[in-house]
Amino acid sequence: MNAINGKEYHQMTNQNQAEAQGKAAVNVTCPHCGKESAYEMWTLINTDQHPEMKQAVRDRSAFVFKCPECGEETPLDYGFVYQQPDLRIMIQYETDPAKADRLEELLSDISNPTVKNLRGANYLFRLVRTANQLADKLAIFDADFDDRIVEIYKLTLLAALRREHPEYDPADGEMIFFKDGDGEYKFQIMQGDQNFGTIGFNESAYEKIANDLVGIMCDIRQELPVVNRQTAVDLMKIISDR
Ligand SMILES: [Zn+2]
Repeated sequence: MNAINGKEYHQMTNQNQAEAQGKAAVNVTCPHCGKESAYEMWTLINTDQHPEMKQAVRDRSAFVFKCPECGEETPLDYGFVYQQPDLRIMIQYETDPAKADRLEELLSDISNPTVKNLRGANYLFRLVRTANQLADKLAIFDADFDDRIVEIYKLTLLAALRREHPEYDPADGEMIFFKDGDGEYKFQIMQGDQNFGTIGFNESAYEKIANDLVGIMCDIRQELPVVNRQTAVDLMKIISDR
């Protein structure tokens, strides 16, 4: 099943033309006026072919549906593959949990041809499941940081956050790395889809974690595609055991 914002959509007939541009022609129902209109959703975004998409993916302006009937703009959330050849980054964004599970299993097998090709081409490859995770990865790689180290950093922040705010539920919470308007690195703390606040990013704390990890981690471009809180928990265990 294909879904946009959790709703099923119907694929249209002029598929070939759209596909050539990394898009799929679909119909979207406007939540404002209820009318259905044609829309081209991205399936593969290559920033060499579409340089404007570097910014449009990061600020999400690429994923807005403007209803031709009533003019209302609706932000859309759907999965796609993002490829940025200048940084050799590929991020697969899959919103369907069952599909993401299957992809994770498939892509965690280093004998898989896709994985082999990406590793051979020295691509930094990640699989993400939410728009927040996508934004987090892009901001981390834009800053030239290592997302595995950032995940451990988040764990230490989470422990501190829980001491100050016992009501904060980490099972339904995430921290999103970002650069603010003044060029400062920070984390946006989310509780579900609510903004819980922000915490500053301290580069020397990051460096300290990086030092603890010397000799433990593989090259970032050879890492398995899923790097998240569990990755940090596993790495922390290795650090404490040695
Ligand atoms: Zn409308």
